[in-house]
Amino acid sequence: MKYHIRKTAEGTFSIYDPIYKVGCHLLCGNQRALLIDTAFGGELKEAVRRCTDLPLIVANTHVHGDHSKGNELFDQPIYVGAGDLPDADRLSAYQSLIREGTRVLRERYRFPQSLLACVNRRYVVDPTKNTYLPLPEEIDLGNRRIDLYPMPGHTEGSVIFVDEQTATAFSGDAIAPTTWLFTDPATRIRRYAEQVESFAGSVGIQRIFPSHSRAVLPFSFVGDFAKTLRDLADLPSVHIPLRWDYGTVRIATDRRSSICPIRVFYFDFQLNQ
Ligand SMILES: [Zn+2]
Repeated sequence: MKYHIRKTAEGTFSIYDPIYKVGCHLLCGNQRALLIDTAFGGELKEAVRRCTDLPLIVANTHVHGDHSKGNELFDQPIYVGAGDLPDADRLSAYQSLIREGTRVLRERYRFPQSLLACVNRRYVVDPTKNTYLPLPEEIDLGNRRIDLYPMPGHTEGSVIFVDEQTATAFSGDAIAPTTWLFTDPATRIRRYAEQVESFAGSVGIQRIFPSHSRAVLPFSFVGDFAKTLRDLADLPSVHIPLRWDYGTVRIATDRRSSICPIRVFYFDFQLNQ
């Protein structure tokens, strides 16, 4: 797959997959460069090398296949939030959802095994293909420092990357116009709203790049997002009897903010383990 490369600031590049609509970001210091997310891979390594020859640190905002499958292209250790460290012995909530969903498609709807194996290969990160390490609190690129803010909710280990030099936050799927909150067991909706409010109070950040858009959002979006979550927390719980019976599921969409429509899909469920 071909990536679109765009310089977004000095030594800073957006590397975007226009087919699957997911982006990675490359931040260069004078000693090292940081690649945030690896999308589905493809020709990502070539795209990175068109931007820099510096030694590379590779990290993920979270371990979902559309942000992390390309990890397999890289030999170096991959840094991820501690809650998302791939573990062959423990399924994440996301992996459990995919496993349960594909079981239902196979047993109930008779989807062919080959098609389901394809979905699994694409969206489930194989813990044996890379060495995974927990992200530190900051990453030193030489003359440039990147700070990390844990934001559990979309996944247990979601992390936001903040670059002081360009006053930019890279939020992955944790704060975005369309956010899926698989909050249980990562966190609860009120706790999530508090976390986002606290992040909205950060000083010195002017803009935010979510993963699934080329748009740059003003940092004030974060405050609106927090308000949306507060609204959501006050809504009565809705029981949606999913066929595979996860228990209570609450889904809310199209919550409006003053800046742009925000869609929050909030899944509050008990997983069958
Ligand atoms: Zn995601």
